[in-house]
Amino acid sequence: MAVPKKKISKSRRNQRRSHDSLNAATQTECPNCGEIKRPHHVCESCGHYDGREVVEIDSIT
Ligand SMILES: [Zn+2]
Repeated sequence: MAVPKKKISKSRRNQRRSHDSLNAATQTECPNCGEIKRPHHVCESCGHYDGREVVEIDSIT
């Protein structure tokens, strides 16, 4: 519900914002190529997931 800005104390506002901070994304090492990858995601550098190649990577660049 919309409440006028001046009705919310600094303390109240800051308590609400105490949950707003972001965490750094978790990183794990790819067991196939050793690159840093996100957990539960296909490796972006070699295309492997769960011990097999799932996506073909065109490594032109
Ligand atoms: Zn990999």
